Amino acid sequence: MRVLSGIQPSGSLHLGNYLGMMKPMLSYMDRAELFVFIVNFHALTSVAEPDKLARGTLEAAADFLALGLDPNRCVFWVQSDVPEVTELAWILTCITPMGLLERCHSYKDKIAKGISPNHGLFAYPVLMAADILLYQSNLVPVGKDQKQHIEVTRDIALKFNYTYGDTFVIPEGEISDDIATIPGVDGQKMSKSYGNTIEIFLDEKELRKKVMSITTDSTPVDQPKNPETCNLFQIYRHFAPRSRVEEVHRLYIEGGAAYGTLKKELVGILWDYFKDSREKRAELLADETYIRKVLAMGAEKARNIGEKTLELVRQRVGTRY
Ligand code: ATP
Ligand code: MG
Repeated sequence: MRVLSGIQPSGSLHLGNYLGMMKPMLSYMDRAELFVFIVNFHALTSVAEPDKLARGTLEAAADFLALGLDPNRCVFWVQSDVPEVTELAWILTCITPMGLLERCHSYKDKIAKGISPNHGLFAYPVLMAADILLYQSNLVPVGKDQKQHIEVTRDIALKFNYTYGDTFVIPEGEISDDIATIPGVDGQKMSKSYGNTIEIFLDEKELRKKVMSITTDSTPVDQPKNPETCNLFQIYRHFAPRSRVEEVHRLYIEGGAAYGTLKKELVGILWDYFKDSREKRAELLADETYIRKVLAMGAEKARNIGEKTLELVRQRVGTRY
């Protein structure tokens, strides 16, 4: 089974990325053929600063490696190092109905937030389909926000196979209900483009500032509160030890949960939770040679596989003449 997962280098890795994507993905290293890539072409839909994109790409690679991705047990590369994916994206674009993309929530949400859309943002799901289909992926673990994009990918693949003959594996999405959507400090979905993230690799002072800024309601300490709708608890419960989570859950229900105290506790928990990774990441970025070597090796492996699919696609659609 081939499992594929990608992340945009459009900003620093946050707790939502970690829980929604990184953690489930790492668990596949020993159970499947894992493909992990940094989607810098996707990030171009929102980042127009070259240095930021280039730096972000290296840092994203360091993040993955620091959090435990072993490049010898997966294929790990940067999207643009296998530019064949854009050829496939164009071919897929030509069989993608406009309506399919017009219905996409992610696009509509971003516009509603006032982000002025370029065509890339609109066509984003087609490039994502190309990513998934080029490598004939079976399974794509994603956060809930990406569920619809996986459905779009399936629709495109089915239409292609129907029109041109069996070519693509039809992928499945995997969305864990437990970690469906991690809220940001403002209570909306934690998202790089919403500016409401808690990044994993902040320094301690910044981490404290972010955690203390998590919005909570004004219910007095001794009154009961709803843990399910509390942003703070929805983050806290993933990182605190299990017995402590149960205890705090009870305090919410019965009264006695103090937001300020819990926030301070969460700062310490997060700081310790990512301590080893933080040190590893600093080491990796101090000398980039290793990161670059790993990415070059990964790109070669990915290209070998992608080229085969693309050659078949060219024959199917008639661009190979
Ligand atoms: P952007 O705002 O630029 O879309 P993002 O913060 O949503 O950035 P992505 O790079 O789009 O991050 O997503 C990387 C992975 O992390 C995806 O699998 C996505 O589903 C997951 N993810 C992102 N945000 C969350 C969240 N708040 N909760 C759970 N999973 C998330
Ligand atoms: Mg996103």
